[in-house]
Amino acid sequence: MNNTLSPVDIPQPAPRSSNPRIMAEEIIERLTYRIGKDAKVAKPHDWLTATILVVRDRIIDRWMESTRKVYRTGDKRVYYLSLEFLIGRLMRDAVSNLGLLQEIRDALSSLGVDIEVIAGLEPDAALGNGGLGRLAACFMESMATVDIPAYGYGIRYVHGLFRQQMADGWQVELPETWLAHGNPWEFERRESSYEIGFGGSVESVGAYDEPPRYVWKPAERMIAMAYDTPIVGWRGARVNTLRLWSAQPIDPILLDAFNAGDHIGALRESNKAETLTRVLYPADANPAGQELRLRQEYFFSSASLQDILRRHLQQYPDFTNLHEKVAIQLNDTHPAVSIAEMMRLLSDVHGMDFDEAWDITRQTFSYTNHTLLPEALESWPVPLFERLLPRHMQIIYTINTKILLDARKEKKFGDSQIRAISLIDENGDRRVRMGNLAFVGSHSINGVSALHTELMKETVFANLHALYPTRINNKTNGITPRRWLMQCNPGLTDLIREAIGDAFEDDTEKLTALDAFATDKAFQEKFAAVKRANKVKLANLVGSRMGIRLDPSAMFDIQIKRIHEYKRQLLNIIEAVALYDQIRSHPELDWVPRVKFFAGKAAPSYHNAKLIIKLANDVARVINNDPAVRGLLKVVFVPNYNVTLAETMVPAADLSEQISTAGMEASGTGNMKFGLNGALTIGTLDGANVEMRDHVGADNIVIFGMTADDVAKARADGHNPRAIIEGSRELSQALSAIASGVFSPDDRSRFAELIDGLYNHDWFMVAGDFDSYAKAQRDVDQIWSDPVLWYEKTIRNTARMGWFSSDRTIRQYASEIWRA
Ligand SMILES: *Cc1c(COP(=O)(O)O)cnc(C)c1O
Repeated sequence: MNNTLSPVDIPQPAPRSSNPRIMAEEIIERLTYRIGKDAKVAKPHDWLTATILVVRDRIIDRWMESTRKVYRTGDKRVYYLSLEFLIGRLMRDAVSNLGLLQEIRDALSSLGVDIEVIAGLEPDAALGNGGLGRLAACFMESMATVDIPAYGYGIRYVHGLFRQQMADGWQVELPETWLAHGNPWEFERRESSYEIGFGGSVESVGAYDEPPRYVWKPAERMIAMAYDTPIVGWRGARVNTLRLWSAQPIDPILLDAFNAGDHIGALRESNKAETLTRVLYPADANPAGQELRLRQEYFFSSASLQDILRRHLQQYPDFTNLHEKVAIQLNDTHPAVSIAEMMRLLSDVHGMDFDEAWDITRQTFSYTNHTLLPEALESWPVPLFERLLPRHMQIIYTINTKILLDARKEKKFGDSQIRAISLIDENGDRRVRMGNLAFVGSHSINGVSALHTELMKETVFANLHALYPTRINNKTNGITPRRWLMQCNPGLTDLIREAIGDAFEDDTEKLTALDAFATDKAFQEKFAAVKRANKVKLANLVGSRMGIRLDPSAMFDIQIKRIHEYKRQLLNIIEAVALYDQIRSHPELDWVPRVKFFAGKAAPSYHNAKLIIKLANDVARVINNDPAVRGLLKVVFVPNYNVTLAETMVPAADLSEQISTAGMEASGTGNMKFGLNGALTIGTLDGANVEMRDHVGADNIVIFGMTADDVAKARADGHNPRAIIEGSRELSQALSAIASGVFSPDDRSRFAELIDGLYNHDWFMVAGDFDSYAKAQRDVDQIWSDPVLWYEKTIRNTARMGWFSSDRTIRQYASEIWRA
């Protein structure tokens, strides 16, 4: 009679096979029916797309099961809000986490296709600048691995971080087009669309004898549409969703305008919306500051919160239990406007009492701080904020009144402390402080390394910490060992498995079993052979891309990260110049052959960072072509640093450069990748380096330079760099050479100002730390000259770095912050 199917009768698809023959058939099937290509004419990109579609099917079964499970169990959901996700390529990650690497390789090879070739065509999804975005990507993978029901929320930028090219040694920025061949990983979800408003006015409504209700009437509106990418955990434990928002116009075309002949004006709305999610701001560790950026922040915050509240109402009758079922983590202050948006949605839209909404909001949100630099803390001019988000501005004033009342009640705060606590900065032009908003609206505020968390309590949040002393806590960053060991370094992974079995694959702290092999001669030789093979691979990459011949038996000394004065690439380059000088003046000495590698992007508007790139290239040209160096020193700046390049460079490093000015690097995660892959670290006591020393042992890391306390004291008591420079022959010679144009004969004064900065203020303590750094480098040479000692130390690094897995970090967030 009734031939419609009730839900229980809907047939479920059979689970997908992992048999290579069947997968090969499916790849041909996708190629034919989805892409519309015959195998004979298919291009490598078509094979890649067809393969991803076959892999994706195997993810979907687990994805749906993961989603159904939360509805069954009522578990708390975790939402990770981040304006950046530095994902990189996904295919090897997905295939390896599903345990299908060999099967897919075989399936493709039966079709005459090399998996390495097509994997190399996958674009590197660079929806982030650096460490903060990469952390978000590692966390997504770890949350799936440790079986936490989590959603990442961000923006689907059409253009991710720019592609870096070199023109005569200068950085040139080119647009990144990662979506050019489509994106087979993502699912467009038209049904998950939300309206986002900007501007307009606020009306209060209701009877005169009732408390007013506020209604925001935005002047501008657009749509946020979701694109979902599944993220597979290790061994396919669970599949979570990365949901990225794209802006769409409400009216794609204004027909009245079009019909009146205004063809460009007719597309006005469309252009306005699409501009919003077109590009990622390429600034790292300093705020972008433009109106479009604030629009991006609000756009993705509002879409995400509307989505979170809608999902909650699908399962529960109201929001009184929101904080028991939802945890929202803010990755830095970029999504901090979410706190005001949550208040608006709960009180204005859903009619909740303001104070109750405030309690629930605070118990739901938590905030991760990533920087202490006062100039890097995000703030927005009040007039701009008010114009774009008038209702949010009112809500922030209301919250501020409550907070300042709390503070005044304590009696212990003077006026200047009250001013520091305020959400509004009243010094000069009035600004909304996003860090203070994130702090007061969260039950947990975490730093990303032990040192950084302590400094946070003493500096930026000293007064807020005094007012709310239980909120600040530490969660030292981590990296996913799947991408940063197993996938990027299969040679080392096989060697470890051969030595200690495979338990480390599920618990990286089990790597400590390798300690027993640190002095084992046979193991050392195998470990060295793996390192050499990785170095050959990097040397080949540099040879083919840059035409520079490198000797893989030289020490590979690598500094790769965003170019920033506080990260001190300049210190490393000056040391290279000093070493160059020494090698030429003392040909009789036994110099350790070294290749100094650099890679990293500079923010397009960061003048000194771009000049440092040019200096590295100028110095490289002179040193690499000077026969007096006899090949003992080479300097290489590898263009276009990204996750994919890191996956080749990290396993090839002998020496890892982590030399930031102490107190300025919040954590670093590059440092962890290198240690895990068996590099020795030369570094300052900054960020997570401090905890790395605790874990690997002080004998197995080379620490130099001023501590964070030393730096603070020097800055307060008057640092005299000129005297320091004049007292160091090596340093003053190197600086004179650079400043006088030895490396820039075409423009002798090119670097004069840069070097002048070292004489005059030396804010980053480059001169302050030079002698200690140069001496530490000679200590490194000593260790290198004794290979038995070198490999003992580097093996102990791999053995003892397991604690820095992002699985550990995520477990700490889950138990201590999210209670999930
Ligand atoms: C790990 C990583 C970073 C962060 O490096 P740090 O040395 O911690 O600054 C930045 N960019 C990419 C591509 C990375 O993989």
